[in-house]
Amino acid sequence: MRASQRLRLAAAAAPAEMLREDGRSLYVHLPFCTSKCRYCDFNSYAWSGQSLERHVRAVLAEARARAAGLRPQTVFIGGGTPSFLPAPLLGELLQQLDEVTGFRASASEVTMEANPESFDDARAAAAAAGGVNRVSIGVQSLRAPVLRAYDRVHSAETALAALRRARALFARVNADLIYAFPGQDPQEWQEDLESVLALGVDHVSCYELSFEPGTALTRMRDAGRFRAEEPERGRALFERTRALCARHGFGQYEVSNYARAGAACRHNLAYWRSLDYVGIGAGAASWLDGERRKNLELPEAYEQAVRAGKDPVAEAERTDPATTLFDALMMGLRLPAEGVLLERARRISGLDPAAACGATLDELIGEGLLELTPGPARRLRATDSGLPFLDSILTRLLAVLRP
Ligand code: SF4
Repeated sequence: MRASQRLRLAAAAAPAEMLREDGRSLYVHLPFCTSKCRYCDFNSYAWSGQSLERHVRAVLAEARARAAGLRPQTVFIGGGTPSFLPAPLLGELLQQLDEVTGFRASASEVTMEANPESFDDARAAAAAAGGVNRVSIGVQSLRAPVLRAYDRVHSAETALAALRRARALFARVNADLIYAFPGQDPQEWQEDLESVLALGVDHVSCYELSFEPGTALTRMRDAGRFRAEEPERGRALFERTRALCARHGFGQYEVSNYARAGAACRHNLAYWRSLDYVGIGAGAASWLDGERRKNLELPEAYEQAVRAGKDPVAEAERTDPATTLFDALMMGLRLPAEGVLLERARRISGLDPAAACGATLDELIGEGLLELTPGPARRLRATDSGLPFLDSILTRLLAVLRP
């Protein structure tokens, strides 16, 4: 086994035992941000003076209706910018969420997302006192021109200070970073990543800059005012990231996520393993007992529905077997070390993955892009050479599962 594979397995090993297959996770979405970043396609909104108290009341009302007694095994407070809430309101949200769901006694991991400009001492203390034990800081870049181009509202210094503050209070800290800014110097990217790792974080998420439909950056690119980086340069930065993280003892346990041994994000692992989760808040998605659902996205529409005593659902469907199987492959193949547990994929979809994917699966294995692990608990996973081409692998699997 090569050193890189051993690192990948080490990073994934501990959390695998911490997540129960029959357990449930809880996601709570808070949609407001200081401003809207140009690359962002999340359900997030620049705050324009709406009542944050009223919004939190709606979130808690939905939690009482849909997550009472849930006792989640993991919790993720995301957004948006959860650290945008004033410290007392953040404390109240966590306190009442615990009274409703019992998360403090049941969850082994409680993550909160935070942005550098709002993650001050008071919010950090409120999060820790409220049961948060892992913080994810949106750093994105340590270069002023890049932060400006993204319309981020913080400086590199503020981001590094937020990471130090997080490390002082929380054992587990993630930094979100984006690479492949057009013309990015690979050496500068490496220095930035090293500066972040040197602060003692146990996890980094490194995403390639992407142009999602409807974002300001995509409109700028389409109007010729912003260019995308060449794909080969993006791939080279991806390889550089993998190698650098490996040298620092961070295993790549997901395409864009690297962690020290045992520090993989359990909540996200629950998604990638297709385990059940309940999503609360505007636009939040859920996957529960074979049903996918998504809430109303607009914060005002969401609040109105909850205030009227209605379910704020926008869409809900029981997925058909082929879609369920494809979703399980799409999520699980993002995990290079553990891949998809075929028996579980069969159990939740009712389809035998090998039979359903037929000759296409054999071809992908024959081409060295996917591999089957030996032994009784067979897993399908992307090889080192297949991982950068996950999108085209999934397109081929989709063509056979949903022709
Ligand atoms: S702070 Fe995060 S969620 Fe908010 S707009 Fe920026 S990237 Fe999107």
